[in-house]
Amino acid sequence: MNGLMLQKQLLISSLIVHADRHHGDTEIVSRRVEGDIHRYTFRDCHRRARQVASALTDLGVKMSDRIGTLAWNGYRHMELYYGICGMGAVMHTINPRLHEDQVAYIVEHAEDQYLFFDLTFLPLVKVIAERCKTVKAFIAMTDREHMPPDSGVANLLCYEDLIEASSSTYGWPVFDEDSASTLCYTSGTTGNPKGVLYTHRSSLLHSYAAALPDALNCSARDVVLPVVPMFHVNAWGIPYVACMVGAKLVFPGPGLDGKSLYELFEAEQVTFSAGVPTVWQGLLNYLEQGGLTFSTMKRTLIGGATCPPAMLREFEDRHGVEVLHAWGMTELSPLGTVSAMKSKHLAMRPEDCRVVQSKQGRAVFGIDLKIVDAGGQELAWDGVNAGELLVRGPWVVRNYFRNEGGNPLQIDANGHGWFPTGDVATIDADGFMQITDRSKDVIKSGGEWISSIDIESIATSHPAIASATCIAAKHPKWDERPLLLAVKKPDAKVTAEDLLAFLDGKIAKWWTPDAIVFVDSVPVGATGKVLKSRLREQYSDYLLTS
Ligand code: AMP
Repeated sequence: MNGLMLQKQLLISSLIVHADRHHGDTEIVSRRVEGDIHRYTFRDCHRRARQVASALTDLGVKMSDRIGTLAWNGYRHMELYYGICGMGAVMHTINPRLHEDQVAYIVEHAEDQYLFFDLTFLPLVKVIAERCKTVKAFIAMTDREHMPPDSGVANLLCYEDLIEASSSTYGWPVFDEDSASTLCYTSGTTGNPKGVLYTHRSSLLHSYAAALPDALNCSARDVVLPVVPMFHVNAWGIPYVACMVGAKLVFPGPGLDGKSLYELFEAEQVTFSAGVPTVWQGLLNYLEQGGLTFSTMKRTLIGGATCPPAMLREFEDRHGVEVLHAWGMTELSPLGTVSAMKSKHLAMRPEDCRVVQSKQGRAVFGIDLKIVDAGGQELAWDGVNAGELLVRGPWVVRNYFRNEGGNPLQIDANGHGWFPTGDVATIDADGFMQITDRSKDVIKSGGEWISSIDIESIATSHPAIASATCIAAKHPKWDERPLLLAVKKPDAKVTAEDLLAFLDGKIAKWWTPDAIVFVDSVPVGATGKVLKSRLREQYSDYLLTS
């Protein structure tokens, strides 16, 4: 017997309709590429999103057509989030930090019909334009006054002209909630990037889960500044969650350096933010150098890579900002787990509580986790056994766009599909998951696994160390041994012996790196993560040759 409740399709347009109706005067503040600060409201955003949809309809865009964006976090990007998805087309956010060949590849692969871009990315557009055969026009996200003269790009349109000429009375269509809404490509550290195609339903369910108290914990009292880019897995869902709960939004645009971010945090009284550790490091350094702290910030979500325990301590002890360590993937929309404490942890000694908090955390409702050994056998949740992490849930990828790479799922005895994350993890009895490595980054020494992340976390807690990266280097006897690449803080004095002494007693003896190499910097990829693959290429023979 079916229940007797109303059916309402879960559509992304309903989020901006809700934000307009219930939080119409709540602000969206943006640092613009043009240099100034722009402010308007959810009501204005809704009106202009409808104008976007109307303009695209006039341009001949139809349901399911892909529309690309190369843009920073800003109000025009937000209008595209809602205008494109709301009309039933597919929003394809492109990471502009990818190599130009990869950008051209994914525009072609997605068959984008139009490409919106911030002026910063004009040089990139010029390089790829010829190769983007499916793109009918490139739309510069600016006004007539700032349009580039002699851009050299054929079919260049102006965003503000397009909007101005379009009607704001557009009515959002109703369609199947399983329709594709958004396309994001993985960062492609191995092979070509693969497309993950979200649905309206998966995006809305993800937003409900992300807004929960033990996840982002966002409300209408919050001022949210997503540092995580809108081209990196929908800024972890924040543009949707903010509409759902009515939080004020502050977009940093291209200003991601410590000074620009700090000024915006203070001027707009930001209470909550989210980003990868590398960006936070820049901000924390800026605060330290200037003897500054936050006046309104309460919480920050840190994910995308392991949050070093030293960073967690600095945020909480020095600045009074609660750290929510979270784990996710493009394939998970992206949220999987958040390290939010349970009441029993609050009674623990603070240092023990920190150990739990440093883990990647508990699954948000909707996500099932399990860890398996090399033979696919499920491992116990004892916080000790490490195995590959598998996940399932209504916002987890089922297949990549155009079936790239074939079916990624592993099917269990009940016929359920599980997505293999490629991460190696433990899960403790309370369900707190801890990533010990990417499966390709794990160091296999004499048949046993060494967690590069554990070694890095301890090394970065040394006061003279800015960052530490541990990789597998070839070894004649043990196959692989850990090699630690460390970046010193400016003017800090520390030797390899000092660092080895610091690690002594904190890790198993046989985990001790065979060598420590001080480097000026480590390569960082398109999503702000250290490119271990490149370091392995560079240093894999280090122990054989030195
Ligand atoms: P992406 O799809 O670019 O977001 O990358 C997803 C991958 O980033 C995951 O599979 C993890 O390897 C890594 N990752 C994400 N969050 C964390 C975290 N909190 N700690 C460690 N690794 C993480």
